[in-house]
Parts: sequence; structure tokens; C-alpha cells
Amino acid sequence: MIVVVRSNAQITEDTGLDDSSIRAARPRLVAKKFILLHPAPNREYAYTLCGVDGLTLDPPVHAAPNRTYGLDFNHCTPEQYRLYYETRLGCKLDKDQNNVACPFHDDHTPSMGVIISEGRFKCHVCEIDGGMVPFEMRFSGCGKAEAGRNISQIIKGSIEETYEAKYDYLDESSTVVYQILRMARGNKHRFTARRPVLIKGMVKWVYNLHGIPKLLYHLPDVIARQWIIVTEGEKDADNVDALALLAPDGSRYATTCNPFGAGKWRSEFSPYFHRKKVLILGDNDSAGKAHAESVQRSISLYTFSKDITVLTDWNGGNDVSDYIQSHTPPELAIYIEQQTFQHWFSHPQESLEPVLEA
Ligand SMILES: [Zn+2]
Repeated sequence: MIVVVRSNAQITEDTGLDDSSIRAARPRLVAKKFILLHPAPNREYAYTLCGVDGLTLDPPVHAAPNRTYGLDFNHCTPEQYRLYYETRLGCKLDKDQNNVACPFHDDHTPSMGVIISEGRFKCHVCEIDGGMVPFEMRFSGCGKAEAGRNISQIIKGSIEETYEAKYDYLDESSTVVYQILRMARGNKHRFTARRPVLIKGMVKWVYNLHGIPKLLYHLPDVIARQWIIVTEGEKDADNVDALALLAPDGSRYATTCNPFGAGKWRSEFSPYFHRKKVLILGDNDSAGKAHAESVQRSISLYTFSKDITVLTDWNGGNDVSDYIQSHTPPELAIYIEQQTFQHWFSHPQESLEPVLEA
């Protein structure tokens, strides 16, 4: 399987390796059939990276940092691509595939296509296409390094500035494996995942989860605790967690959810619920109800049916967060027990008494 062709200079830029290191590594890479060499102009070589059976090249040539810019322009988020092209083209790019006036020729009919999800443009009149770097080189009439700096200036920090919430996904030893960012766009939400990669002693974020195991939210709590509340999303899990609800035996609840929302429960999450008490607080819509039921079915292979209960009715609200907004923690606990006809919480007497403020 042929993956991608890169020139010497591109590999230098992609990996930070100097020319002599590339030359030194080349014979061994060729011998192992990881790359094919093709003579190219300027006495350079072009490389074709080969995916050998069992060898994953994903992403193909960006395992190493991009030394010049610190951002991997081939793996940006759609929001970053959109920000760049909107800034340069001076117009809104609301769709994934947009037709716009080409800035590189006298264009009276929109002849440039911009695909946001891929970060690519194409003008069929100029017969040019590519990603942000070739666009910027042409737009600013500059070389590759300067193009990289310009793009960085436009999109760098855009993630940090635009996300509303950040959810850490931890492994069993409480190490952050990946994060999900909730981004606002208009009145909708989008979610972007990223993972930390250690590069030359510095943590950088790579905006994909290629080859990363998917984890339950708050996994260490799920492992450590006996009573567990499952919500549809991270926001609900955090809102419930903040209430520090206590199970009948006085222990803290773990709160969790699967990444990427309704319909994305994975069967490998369910063994963590072996012989646990599980309260599934789902969303009150058809996707939410179907999701809650599928979670219940999947978990029921590992714990007693009587120990799993689903609640999706929030007395007019759509989810448990809506309910929490207008009720106290003791009211939530009582509501859940009344709706499920089961004893889920300990009710310390003092918490039922109203707190009077002066
Ligand atoms: Zn054009």
C-alpha cells in the first residue's frame, strides 16, 4: 500500500532531522522496505512510505514534530482549517464543501472549492490544489517556512480560545491518555479529541486518537468504587460528580460516561461494571433512551439485573443537568428513588434541613 510521497526537504521539515541523518537512515529504511526512493529534481529524492502488513503508518509521516511551526498542518481540527481559510478568503465557510471566488485569478464565478474537514482547496481554473501551506505560499508570495509561521499566527491558540470545556480521559493509573474538548460554534456544540505526545521533552497535542484505546470517563473512580452513575455525556457526569452523592453504604459514587455521546458505548467498557451497582441517568430524547437501554443491556452481562436501573425522565428537563439546575442534591436523590422505587442513596439528616443564610 503506497501512502504518501515526501521530498527530502519535506521530511527535514516534518521530522526536524537534518539532511545527513536522513541520508544515514535511508539505506536501512529501504532495506526494510519502509520507503521507496525516486530520483527527483535538484538531486533530491522523493520518498514513498510503504505500509507493510502489520505496520501502521498512521499518521504516515507526522509521528515526529514539525520543527518549524510546532503545529501539524495535516492534522488540524476542522475549526482550525475553517479559521485559516475564512481569514484568508474573507468570507464565511459554513459548509464542509464550499465554493468561493478564487483569490489567485480574476474570478467571476466561484471556481475555488474548499473542503473544511480535509483542510484542502482546489481551483479548477488555476489548476492548483493542496492544503494550507501551498495556499499560504501563493497567497503571501512567500516560502514554506514563512507560510508556516503565517498559518501558525492565524490558527495557533484558536483551540485554547474556543473550547468551552475540557474533559480528561485517564487510564487506570490516572495518566491523561486523551482529552475531549467541547467547542461552541453558533448555538451548537462540536467535540474535538486530542492526545498528548511527548516530543523532545515537551508535551504537544495531536488532534486525533489514532491507535489510542477508548476509555471510560473517570475510569480510576469506576475501578475504585462500588456504586456508579452513568450519564450520557461528560458535562452531566461532572455535574453529578460535583454533588458528591453518597450510596446507602456511605461511599462516594463514581460518575462516568463513554466518549463521543449517545450510541457510542463499547462492549469493552462493560467488564468494569462487574458486580457493581449502576444507576444510568440518560437523556430524555429518543437517542438518549436508546443509548441508556443499550448501556444497560451491555452492562447486564457483568452484574445483576436488579443492580442496574435506568432513569431518563427529568420532570420536564432533558437531562440530569437540567434537573440539578433547579433542585438541591437531596431533592435529586429523593426524586431518583421515587422514580426508580429503589434505595440508592444515604440521606444524612442534616442535609435535608434548609440552610438559612443571613
Ligand atoms: Zn483560480
